[in-house]
Amino acid sequence: MREVWKSVLAFLKNTIPEEVFVPWFGKVEFTEDSEPDIINISVPSVPHSKFIKAQYEKDIEEKAAEICGREIKLKITVKDPNKGAMISEPLPGPANTLPEEEKAPKSIDEIATKCGLHSGLTFDTFVIGNANRVARSSAMLVAEFPGERCNPLFIYGGVGLGKTHLMHAVGRKILEDNPNTNLLCISANRFINEVVSLSAGGRYSDEKIQKFDNKYRNLDALLIDDVQFLCKRGGTQQRLFNIFEALLPKNKQIILTCDTYARQLSDFDERLISRFGAGLSVSIEPAEFELRAAILLQKAKQQGVKLPLEVAYLIATRLNTNIRELEGALNSVIMRAEVFKKPITEELAKEALQGITGTGRISIENIQQSTAEHFSIKIADMHSKRRVANVAYARQIAMYLAKELTQKSLIEIGYAFGGRDHATVLYAVKKITKERAQNQELNHTLHLIEQDLKNWN
Ligand code: ADP
Ligand code: MG
Repeated sequence: MREVWKSVLAFLKNTIPEEVFVPWFGKVEFTEDSEPDIINISVPSVPHSKFIKAQYEKDIEEKAAEICGREIKLKITVKDPNKGAMISEPLPGPANTLPEEEKAPKSIDEIATKCGLHSGLTFDTFVIGNANRVARSSAMLVAEFPGERCNPLFIYGGVGLGKTHLMHAVGRKILEDNPNTNLLCISANRFINEVVSLSAGGRYSDEKIQKFDNKYRNLDALLIDDVQFLCKRGGTQQRLFNIFEALLPKNKQIILTCDTYARQLSDFDERLISRFGAGLSVSIEPAEFELRAAILLQKAKQQGVKLPLEVAYLIATRLNTNIRELEGALNSVIMRAEVFKKPITEELAKEALQGITGTGRISIENIQQSTAEHFSIKIADMHSKRRVANVAYARQIAMYLAKELTQKSLIEIGYAFGGRDHATVLYAVKKITKERAQNQELNHTLHLIEQDLKNWN
């Protein structure tokens, strides 16, 4: 087992940043266990043991199993249980100037958490497919050259498609490459709250504003999630605009996520919209079938569950857009298997998925039907080549609504409208978006159809 441990350790050394590896694994000692198939290691302190168990137990066991070709368990003993964390080398940089009790070296997870990042959302756990390939490679580029290319990076797409995950992954990589980066990842809602609190009680406090400005203007990287929530928030938008003006000229990286592309945001300061779009905008499209299945297999593996391929396919067929819902469905299946102590089979999955249908709440077919009824045309005309003005107009409206209310890509929408190409759909979406902003009557009509669709389900 000693040789196995040596190989595992070498693997960890290659995959974990040195500033994490040295303090946490530098003093780990191996002991032969009396039982077979056990890697027994001793560590200096309880925090050590907790950290390794929480962060690396699974990796260690998986790697050992891969080397041995059978299941191997990790056993951790603590040499001196009364000791606090005893780490050989503290982290370089600002951590050294902290008060004594905070001086304990920070793992990359701790640093990331302090910056507002979730530790599970990394590039390693982000599965690549057609729907996110471009967004992912742009994100990787930004992570490798923060502030130098694509600034700001604007990631947009529907709900639950991986925008937040990708943005956190960039933040994580920036910190892994340089743990001293002054990075902040914040949701737009929290940002709004911070701005609102500057004028608590109706009065601005200079001191608070100073503090706020210092915090944001000295950042090396600012990541804001769901910027669409800043809509109608004039004051907050102004503050954000000022932060952009401070950071961008200094090549400090800004990354934003949004549920739509920048030009489509309404009730936004025009200058801010133009800043949003001034770097690189990338979209994440709804995941295609293969990607959905691959994500399911990976999520199951992360939980240590063996998911048969046919069950992954079954779930991926049932839920066809939102990945968060896909995960929810997977968890229902796993839970059912645990509760009934049964293996995960297609039959069990079908039982678990009863009643779960996903966001397909509003379908393109519903939209075509409602719109056709509203304009008194035949549903068949949604697919037909007829170019009569009112038919073509109703079709464009339905295409626009399909883009707005479903998670379908332009290509899929085109396909559902009699095999039209994505450029035709894009043209319709842009045209109706523009008209809606200028034409009260159209806006009202669209509201009616939208209400109709929402009540339908
Ligand atoms: P969004 O911000 O677009 O609403 P999230 O980033 O929160 O979506 O993603 C929803 C869930 O789906 C998260 O748990 C995330 O980890 C997962 N997810 C999304 N895309 C992927 C992917 N490509 N690989 C692995 N997990 C993904
Ligand atoms: Mg999100």
